[in-house]
Order: sequence, then structure tokens, then C-alpha cells
Amino acid sequence: MRALTWHGTHDVRVDSVPDPEIVNPRDAIIKVTSTAICGSDLHLYDGVIPSLQPGDILGHEFMGEVVETGSASTLKKGQRVVVPFTISCGGCFHCKVQQYSACENSNPAEKQDMSETLYGQPMAGLFGYSHLTGGYSGGQAEYVRVPFSDVGPVVVPDHLDDDTVLFLSDILPTGWMAADNADIQPDDTVAVWGCGPVGLFAIQSAIVMGAAQVIAIDHYPHRLELARKLGATTINFRETDVRAALMEMSGGIGVDVVIDAVGMEAHGFAIDNMLDVVKQKVGFGADRASALKQALLSVRFGGKVSIPGVYGGMTDKFPLGAMMEKGVQLRTGQTHVQKYTGKLLKMIEEGKLDTTFLISHRLPLEQAPDGYKHFKEEQDTWTKVVLKPGMQPAT
Ligand SMILES: [Zn+2]
Ligand SMILES: [Zn+2]
Repeated sequence: MRALTWHGTHDVRVDSVPDPEIVNPRDAIIKVTSTAICGSDLHLYDGVIPSLQPGDILGHEFMGEVVETGSASTLKKGQRVVVPFTISCGGCFHCKVQQYSACENSNPAEKQDMSETLYGQPMAGLFGYSHLTGGYSGGQAEYVRVPFSDVGPVVVPDHLDDDTVLFLSDILPTGWMAADNADIQPDDTVAVWGCGPVGLFAIQSAIVMGAAQVIAIDHYPHRLELARKLGATTINFRETDVRAALMEMSGGIGVDVVIDAVGMEAHGFAIDNMLDVVKQKVGFGADRASALKQALLSVRFGGKVSIPGVYGGMTDKFPLGAMMEKGVQLRTGQTHVQKYTGKLLKMIEEGKLDTTFLISHRLPLEQAPDGYKHFKEEQDTWTKVVLKPGMQPAT
């Protein structure tokens, strides 16, 4: 089959590789019909995540048709499914309390060393995201093996086309959980840093949950425009003093809810001694660190802080004092995708959520390397790239 493979920094290629096979009874093989490039894929592309190996297949946002099932899979051939990026067994302590992204059984023991050292316990398995998270082949390919296929995949009805449901795999539940973690109340003013896909979906979710006012903060004009179309008020941080503006918009007390959808993904999984290298390489963040700091200074006393943005290593100068003295509630974490997919699918079906506005480009799988390059270099207008393995390249 053909698949997008990683070979080094800024070197991804579409190669011919062996087809995946059923390994365990609970596996299924999916023929991929749509797969997206995620912002977090860019950190693999930039080579800042350790433990990738040349030839690894990337991609954790995908959907397709079931073409083969193991004897213990509950899926049926021919079904269309969206697959969560988190791989979860469904039976461990964490899965049973719906903390799916903390599954204890999905990351093979021999791959757990580095994340256990970093975090105290090892991370769960994820598709297409290095050997730290299990070394699973991703879905930017014609076919993919899905472990625990009786737990994760969401069967979608035929009348919903791929573009309307694909983002159930990651960014829609991630944006939704960001808002859900802030326990949004009807009179809340919510400020969201970062109008990338997760930030935009957090904005949309906060509005659907009934927030009185949602304020979007970014510097990309097109992304701010998308936020306005969703119903947000916008602040361009290149033009406006963000904290002063937020104080004014919240009657001088600070906003009720702050959501950091920027994160420091560039540091994802970086171990201590890599930080300096990473800092140089990616221009570690004055800008990025300042988003969370600014959020903590902008939230009101007793307010709520939600962090969907990914942080992987250590950070300097975290305003712990502001957090404690203001008595804020802070919630964060990798998304428990499977907890939200059923509810969100229903909302899509009922027309309460439409995520297709985000897609700026649809490309054949063969043009995936171009997609990565443009998505990285033209962030304002390349908001989301969807790869279609079945699409013929334009001649
Ligand atoms: Zn993603
Ligand atoms: Zn589990």
C-alpha cells in the first residue's frame, strides 16, 4: 500500500510499504477514505519529538471503511468508522472511569521507559506518534490496523459525508473537552488563546454551551475571521494589549474562563537535557510561554483555567503564585476522545455542530508532503488539510 512515512526533519515521503495485517483478535483493518494533518504532526515534521524512526507511518486523525476484522472485533466489514487518536483497551482502571487517554494497556511495556521517567507513569498508546506512544502505524495511509477495535471506532451513518465527521477523531472532542473542563455557565465570559483548529472548536463549543461572551486571541487575520464567523469577539495580540482589553471586556474583574489552546507542543515529550537544543531549534517560547502566563493574569479570582494545548516537558516561570492566590481551578490533559464521540456525533447529525468550515484544502494522499509544507509555512490560510487516499492527483 501507499503511506506517508517520516524520514527526518522536514522529510516525509509517500512510499510503498507492506499492508497491515490483523495481529490480535480485537484488531480491525480500515481502508482509509479521509485523514487529516494535525498541528501536532508538524512537531514530528520538525523533528523535535524523540523516538521516531525512519519509515514510521504518521497520522492520528483518520476514518474509513472496515475491510477486515479479527475474531473478537465488534465491527463489521463495510461499516464506515471514525477512529479516535487515543488507543484504549476499555477494561483497565482508567478506561472504566472514561479516562481513555490514560489507558494502561495500549502502550507496549518495552516502549514505556521514557514517558514513565518523565511523568511517573507511562503514557497510553496513540496512532502515528512515535515510539514513546507505542510505535503504532498511523492513518495517513491507504490502510491501517486498529487495535481494540471493539472500543474506539465510531460507526457513522452513510448520510454523513467524511468531511462532517472526520474531526471526531481528535480536534472536535479536544476542543469540546477544553470547554467542558471549564464547566461553562450561561453568564460566563470565555477567552481563548489560539485560533488553530482546537482553539476554533473550543470557541464553537463554548458558544454552543451557552457562554455569554467568547473572546478569541490570535494574530493570523484569516483565523481571527473564522472565529468571528463562529460568533466570537476577536483580539489581535499584535495590535492590542490583550490583558487590558480583557479587563475592560469583563467589567474590570477579569474573565471567568481562560482556555490556552496554544500550548508548547514544540516541546512535546522533550526530556530535560533536550530542552536547550529544542529551544534553539524552535525558538522556544517567549510568545508561547506568555500565552499561559497572560491567561493566568487575565482570569478573575475564582475563575477557571483550561489547557488543551499540549505541553510535554518543563516550563520556566510558571505563575504558580497567581494560580494559588486567585484560587483558580485548573484542568488539562490529553483528550478522552471515546468519552465524547457519541454525544458529538449526535450533535453533528442534528445540525448543532458543523466542523467543515475549518477545511481549507483537500489533497490526494500522494501530495501529502506538499500538504505538510504548506500547512507549516502558510498557517494563516492553510487551516486544515484533509488527505484523501482515493482522490486522483490533478494532472
Ligand atoms: Zn491531532
Ligand atoms: Zn485501558
